Amino acid sequence: MTGRCLCGGVRFELTEPPTEAGYCHCTRCQRRTGTASSAQARIDGATFRLLAGADLVAGWRHPDGGFEKCFCRFCGAHLFSRNEDGSQMSIRLSAFDGDPGVRPMWRAFTNYAAAWEPIPDDGLPRFPEAKARDGMGGAGFEPA
Ligand SMILES: [Zn+2]
Ligand SMILES: [Zn+2]
Repeated sequence: MTGRCLCGGVRFELTEPPTEAGYCHCTRCQRRTGTASSAQARIDGATFRLLAGADLVAGWRHPDGGFEKCFCRFCGAHLFSRNEDGSQMSIRLSAFDGDPGVRPMWRAFTNYAAAWEPIPDDGLPRFPEAKARDGMGGAGFEPA
């Protein structure tokens, strides 16, 4: 299972297919993606391998904490985020080359959903703040 950025300079692969994914409606995700929410797969960082473009990957970590948000410094495409030691990662679903297999299973931080795009009535569980299991975040910011 492979993925890449918009210009193709950064390429990666996963040795195991992702099993979990969700939408994040937090304000950080809105800012960084330019959209109403971020669709992302949660993965075990040990299954991630960068194949090309390590020099193009730039990361930004909010001063208040959370995962480092990584993107291609040349084309600006959002790729993934990771915790300090890289053991936990989120891959942006748009970065995969093909069907990642997994489908978004929840919507988190719905309290902060964009006014201009109503949340679709798709039956997915909604978490007003962080998804309960994560126990992180707060004040409308998703760690991943
Ligand atoms: Zn790129
Ligand atoms: Zn978010």
